[in-house]
Amino acid sequence: MKIYVIMLAGGKGSRMNASVNKVLIPVCGKTVIARSIEAFVPFADEMIIVSRHEEQETIRREMSALSLPFQWRFASAGDTRQASMMNGLFALSPSDEDIVLIHDAARCMVDHGLIRRVIDSVKEYGTGIPGIRATSTYKICDPRGCVVSTPDRSALYEIQTPQGFRAGMLIPAVLKAMNEKVEYTDDAGIVEHYGADVRVTEGSSSNIKLTTPEDIQRALSILEGDNSFMRVGMGYDVHRLIEGRKMILCGIEIPYEFGLLGHSDADVALHALMDAMLGACALGDIGKHFPDKDERYRGISSVVLLEQTKKIIGNAGYAVSNADITIVAQKPKLLQYIPDMAAKVASVLELPVNCISVKATTTEMLGFEGRKEGVSAYAVCTVVER
Ligand code: MG
Repeated sequence: MKIYVIMLAGGKGSRMNASVNKVLIPVCGKTVIARSIEAFVPFADEMIIVSRHEEQETIRREMSALSLPFQWRFASAGDTRQASMMNGLFALSPSDEDIVLIHDAARCMVDHGLIRRVIDSVKEYGTGIPGIRATSTYKICDPRGCVVSTPDRSALYEIQTPQGFRAGMLIPAVLKAMNEKVEYTDDAGIVEHYGADVRVTEGSSSNIKLTTPEDIQRALSILEGDNSFMRVGMGYDVHRLIEGRKMILCGIEIPYEFGLLGHSDADVALHALMDAMLGACALGDIGKHFPDKDERYRGISSVVLLEQTKKIIGNAGYAVSNADITIVAQKPKLLQYIPDMAAKVASVLELPVNCISVKATTTEMLGFEGRKEGVSAYAVCTVVER
């Protein structure tokens, strides 16, 4: 018995007011589709990603970063959800006993427990769709908006995905629906239409479908947990500019006739960042952890110190979730080095690069930075409990 996953990612996401398909929007540093796909890693033997042609290259790049243990390929999106699902289904050649899970890629908050419940239900009953009991009262209304009836709330469920079926049950129903041109907004509808029992299994209130910008906010707050556990730190540092030293900022060597004076490599930007990290956790400052009297730190790369700072706050139970660094220097122009600097910090902190911001500014020749006597840096970061 194999488990096939059909990942529906072909929606236009017009309610999201975004320029890209909503499944390509990052949530906490990872795109919606990457999160959805990863959720199936422990379960899937094969996956079909149903998407629009013009987005397949972008999705392919996302996929290559995930190093997935199962085979996957694309199928083309259709005009309706059902057409897309069928394109996905016909790209597979399952045996009757195999399980097909159909998932909306926009439900990237799906968890392993829910997927497991769907699979268990399919194994036992041939079908399994996740649902949560209605907590609101629903009304059935006519086109004028007048109430026709009030369904019994205790019998109402809000249905989610993945929806799971034995292939031997799903495929004949889908073929019949095709011939008879029957259209449903969910996959179970087709199976129900042909008289099969569809079992509802317990869904999850976190398994939201990301449809509007507010849904993205909800997903963020679920992923980040209670924001009261988020802490903020700030750091500031200055180093003197002199001849005969290298200029190293955020771990990147910047070609310039002057460099920064210091006991370590004098990476003023990383020093500010480390102070922000330690400050966020109320763990003192870098002077306390890496004293400049200590010979071990003479000439040391601040990247090494950043790694150690990451460990120090990690041991206290914290991890950086984002950081914003501003380097104040009249010269040299830093703009071209910013992507490398951000990438360096992100890789040391093991964060997506869009969680690290590096900016550079001059002071219009005012102050010590403006007189090119020194370079300063400010950093702000947030940390969350790990
Ligand atoms: Mg310093």
